[in-house]
Amino acid sequence: MSQQLLVEEFETLPAESAIDRVLAENKGAPCFTCSFQAEDMIVLDLLRKRVPDIPVLFLETGYHFAETYAYRDRMAKAWGLNLKNLAAKQSVADQEAQFGILNRTDPAKCCQLRKVEPLFAALQEYDLWFTGLRREQSPTRKNLKVVEHHELATGKVLLKVSPLAAWTWGQVWKYTADNKIDYLPLYDAGYRSIGCEPCTAIPQAGADPRSGRWGGAKLECGIHTDSKRVD
Ligand code: SF4
Repeated sequence: MSQQLLVEEFETLPAESAIDRVLAENKGAPCFTCSFQAEDMIVLDLLRKRVPDIPVLFLETGYHFAETYAYRDRMAKAWGLNLKNLAAKQSVADQEAQFGILNRTDPAKCCQLRKVEPLFAALQEYDLWFTGLRREQSPTRKNLKVVEHHELATGKVLLKVSPLAAWTWGQVWKYTADNKIDYLPLYDAGYRSIGCEPCTAIPQAGADPRSGRWGGAKLECGIHTDSKRVD
């Protein structure tokens, strides 16, 4: 089957079936990138029942909300997660001493140093990259497919799997409630897309969920745009 046909076949599968089929047909090493947002917890709930020790990659930028760190630690303990905190080469203090506060002056560089570089280095070890991305989240994600083949700068190719690509915000919260999943308390304060504290605000009513990120100056940190789609 051609890669393109394979990609289209996955579009009609429920999330559970997509995960089952990916795991059955691919023997490579899986991982899951997790920012502990609501979508991530659904994919993680499905994955942990199938691959209990799946590596859960958290981008430990040093700039997250205290609530995010507390929730990460609570869920890692409650679900027995194989949590891997990915840190940048420099500490926050060293980076700020050398470059100043990049999230104010050059957020693209800050994201490159604290997110893109650590993640892409870690992904070298894996073959299947699960995510909680959804098309509805942002205009930059409107063409997202459930399965995509991605090539890193090193030439490494991974199968990137986003089982919730077609899900709505309503479906996310229905699954969360139906399955009694504890969620990041910041949602109750009005946040819709939650990343590093200096770069996350509550979006205006009716606006894209990610419009509260980076003061509206950009929509992506680079981890989902810097690899090359090759199918
Ligand atoms: S989201 Fe903000 S603080 Fe976090 S790495 Fe990017 S620019 Fe830096």
